[in-house]
Amino acid sequence: MAAGRGSRMMTETDSSPKQYRDLVGKSVLQRTCEQFIANPRIDRVLCVIHADDGDLFQTATARLDSTKLLPPVTGGAERQESVRLGLEALADMNPDYVLIHDGVRPFVSQEVILRVLDHLDSDHPAILPAVKVSDTLKTRGATGHIEGTVDRSKIWAAQTPQGFAFETILNAHRTALATDQHHFTDDTALMEHNDVPVLIVEGDGANIKLTTPQDMELGRKQLRMEATHMLSDIRTGTGYDVHAFEEGDAVILGGVEIPHSRKLKGHSDADVVLHAITDALFGALADGDIGSHFPPSDPKWKGAASDQFLVYAVDRLKARGGKLAHVDVTVVCERPKIGPHRDSMRERISQICSLPVDRVAVKATTSERLGFTGREEGIAALSTVTIRLPLPEDYWDAHD
Ligand code: MG
Repeated sequence: MAAGRGSRMMTETDSSPKQYRDLVGKSVLQRTCEQFIANPRIDRVLCVIHADDGDLFQTATARLDSTKLLPPVTGGAERQESVRLGLEALADMNPDYVLIHDGVRPFVSQEVILRVLDHLDSDHPAILPAVKVSDTLKTRGATGHIEGTVDRSKIWAAQTPQGFAFETILNAHRTALATDQHHFTDDTALMEHNDVPVLIVEGDGANIKLTTPQDMELGRKQLRMEATHMLSDIRTGTGYDVHAFEEGDAVILGGVEIPHSRKLKGHSDADVVLHAITDALFGALADGDIGSHFPPSDPKWKGAASDQFLVYAVDRLKARGGKLAHVDVTVVCERPKIGPHRDSMRERISQICSLPVDRVAVKATTSERLGFTGREEGIAALSTVTIRLPLPEDYWDAHD
């Protein structure tokens, strides 16, 4: 359900509907949909949206690459009507069960979804996830004073997804429409009205409904904390590479062609900078080196542009769920001068690695005319790369 307007979320600076707001790089609605799409027991996901939100919906869900996601349905003036329109849109499909969920509860866990699904059967056509209220509840009188204390032992706060036998909930909505009853604030209330027993199962305190700007801020903090914790296996790798000069008119360093009186000799394009970074990345991953992944004996790498080696290493990192944090490189040569090309090298490396340019450092030094670099026989490059990987669950058990 994503048809609401959420007036409590509106601020002077942001009047956009809350389900489309950014929640750490993804819209609220995308995060919510992802949870249901990810569940193997859920076949289809249908969003009911506001008539004005077609474009917002397309943008918010563009990255949801799933055949499970159905085209959205336009809702009505009230939540009850919106739910009914959503159910009617599924009538032809006639599923066994349907879960009805608030689009602004993106923190719903697989455990809660499964708990609702697990309890749905012919004897239990309606399931409500809920949490026991732990605060002491008071009623307040007209003068602003306490009127009384509520016995909270039987009080549960309702959450979603609420689960139903499809026919039962669809028929209840159709009957409510036919009898002109529009006051039901949630779908289990409609069941209660029809004397259908609703089983309460344990919800989850984290499954909050994002209602106020404060809720959004809390949600963002929570997600960032989880991400930081998840990617807390921080590793560093170093790389070193050398290529000799030969006859030519330009060198390629960091993916940038720099005019020079010589060129670098190598099987590929001899980009020492990208080779050093690639090796540093393999080092951080403890995953071999550039020679083992791209053997110089293999003719297919002859004259190859070295950005593909680095892209490959970055892909190996991504495949392990990791993130590149920082790339540092030092070029050692007397000539050509690196300074004038430093920023274009940083820019190019940042593109190749899909890393913000302020996380890419390129430095240069001479070797004071000493050694092979000093004699201008070749160029050396050193690199340090920092990555973040998901921390294995047994990390603290295995490392004391
Ligand atoms: Mg090399």
